[in-house]
Amino acid sequence: MSSSSCVAHVALLPSAGMGHLTPFLRLAAMLCHHHCHVTLITPKPTVSNAESNLLSKFFSAFPQVNQLNLHLLPSSHTANADPFFLQFDAIRRSCHLLHPLLSSLSPPLSSFVYDMTLISPVLPVATAIGVPHYILFTSSASMFCFYSYFPKAAESTFDGDGIDIPGFSSVSKSSLPPQLLDRDGIYRKLFLEDSPKVTKLHGVFLNTFEEVESKTLKALNAGEVVKDMPPVHALGPFVPCYEFEGLGERGESLKWLDKQPNGSVIYVCFGSRIALKSNQIREIGDGLVRSGFRFLWVVKGNKVDKEDEEKGLEGVLGIELAERITKDNKGLVVKEWVDQRQILDHSAVGGFFSHCGWNSVMEAAFYGVPILGWPLLGDQKINAEFVVSNGGFGIWKKDWGWEGERLVRGEEIGDAIKELMRNESLITKAEEVKMAARKAIGVGGGSEINLQKITEQWKKSQ
Ligand code: UDP
Ligand code: UDP
Repeated sequence: MSSSSCVAHVALLPSAGMGHLTPFLRLAAMLCHHHCHVTLITPKPTVSNAESNLLSKFFSAFPQVNQLNLHLLPSSHTANADPFFLQFDAIRRSCHLLHPLLSSLSPPLSSFVYDMTLISPVLPVATAIGVPHYILFTSSASMFCFYSYFPKAAESTFDGDGIDIPGFSSVSKSSLPPQLLDRDGIYRKLFLEDSPKVTKLHGVFLNTFEEVESKTLKALNAGEVVKDMPPVHALGPFVPCYEFEGLGERGESLKWLDKQPNGSVIYVCFGSRIALKSNQIREIGDGLVRSGFRFLWVVKGNKVDKEDEEKGLEGVLGIELAERITKDNKGLVVKEWVDQRQILDHSAVGGFFSHCGWNSVMEAAFYGVPILGWPLLGDQKINAEFVVSNGGFGIWKKDWGWEGERLVRGEEIGDAIKELMRNESLITKAEEVKMAARKAIGVGGGSEINLQKITEQWKKSQ
């Protein structure tokens, strides 16, 4: 055997949105560090500027990674659909184009890792090429339990208190991703179509770690949730990668943070996709000022950053609130993409008001920042439950509901921020989680050993 044939060649296929792209690129970086040859398939065009910017930085930092463009067929859905959903659909409809791309790769593939949202369309391609294939499930082990068990649960009507998942706990009705309650909804159809096929995968990768989701991981791997479940590997927390993330100059936010005392600032950001209604944005602003704490607040006016920004910051906040914030002089509000990695890593940040997107939760865990969770859609209540119960490093006001369920008032938000920022035990707990996270990915740690074993297996099979 020649030495080059011992190198594992891994193809990665992410789906739309930063919440899916970011963990794939972090995994790609980890695989490069484990001396794998990596091919990254990039569905083109991307939805947001944030995605295309991150891809450019990634390929500059890792020129050894082979890029394969997947030119997408148009989506079958039109009018008013979420642009990220249209992209999911376009990628799913274009997966058959992968076969000629992947079967001609040299050296031949040792494995193929694709997004959790692509199981049905990729399965026949991966099977035809005859390569071991895995999904990267970009949410928690808890959410993966729910996802795997959902088809069984869907046989009932959810009239009761929620869903009892064997080997796991129950998910209350109010925490179920709302899109799944719509019997004719497209998400429900996709879940029902894809989830039963997890047993056909060679494995599942998760951005989590044993120390915080051990019971769930054990139940999954013991086949308690779904019989014949393939191995579920915890590889996280995926570390923000200094080589390609935040390589630009230190922006306004970081310069401002540099001037604030240690642990004094609450950072507010609801991920890459959520643009709240303007009345809710103004209540958040009111709450931040009322709390009396310093704050760094990332406001999003549009779902997609490519859309014309007709309103400036003052247009979104309203003049009255903008003036209060300026007069109070305790907060910085930005309406642009920020480098969340560097913000959570900054000593001035003492709390994170977050929508509990899974990447944000794992980043907060890695940097030891307590969370005030306000889950707004999808898997986020299941993630918030993790933060409060398993992780124990945050709080969540369940009566705030999903996005748009009701207007959450400034008083409530201000009180919750005070509760978070004054709670010493959360700081201690977040510090413990941070230590456990670092142990998991350090030399001899559980996640590091899992990745080592998998890449060794791929190398041997070459
Ligand atoms: N993020 C960022 N800057 C922003 C907004 C988000 O760096 O202004 C990053 C954040 O660090 C995370 C990802 O974008 O890695 C968002 O993923 P998450 O799962 O938290 O939420 P989603 O955007 O999928 O709702
Ligand atoms: N989802 C899925 N299959 C799909 C589309 C979405 O499993 O084809 C999952 C998705 O990853 C999330 C939930 O459904 O767990 C809600 O999706 P949404 O797009 O709102 O969230 P996000 O992409 O930010 O995770």
